[in-house]
Amino acid sequence: MGSAIDKYLELRAKIDERSNQLHELHHDKMKCKKGCDECCMSFDIFPVEFYAIKQQLDKIGFSASDLPQQPQNDEDCVFLKDGVCSIYEARPIICRTHGLPFLYVGEEENWELSYCPMNFEGQAPEFFHVENTFAQDRFNSELFMINKQFIENHTEKQFKEFDLISTQKLLAE
Ligand code: SF4
Repeated sequence: MGSAIDKYLELRAKIDERSNQLHELHHDKMKCKKGCDECCMSFDIFPVEFYAIKQQLDKIGFSASDLPQQPQNDEDCVFLKDGVCSIYEARPIICRTHGLPFLYVGEEENWELSYCPMNFEGQAPEFFHVENTFAQDRFNSELFMINKQFIENHTEKQFKEFDLISTQKLLAE
């Protein structure tokens, strides 16, 4: 059985593949481009993702001194530098799907659709279906199970199933 971090990296590659397919499919309706940082904020992520990113940043020798300034408030992402992600290759899964249309089961067990309001201008909701949207619930379930394995293998860290860690702490560890 592979390590939880290896499984996380496999899932991340799968999500990149699906995100790339959706970008190709929707590129004419999406305004996402380098320099747009509307989706960038400080996210809370599962421990397995936190430590996988931490490992990757350590491997490439990333240092906080590479960042020009600290964010003005707790909601800003510490890795945003001049409107560009300074840890692009290691960025969390949530950042890999910015701007794409999502379908997920809402609180009342109904299907809900979400996407950046700058994209898909004038597009009727009926246009979206399971084949042309990102299946958020399926990927989240896979990530949840991988994180479960991670915390079971690292009982010394005393994480609980729903514990999350802010990406800001990547600079502190
Ligand atoms: S990690 Fe990168 S892509 Fe994600 S919110 Fe921060 S700057 Fe944006």
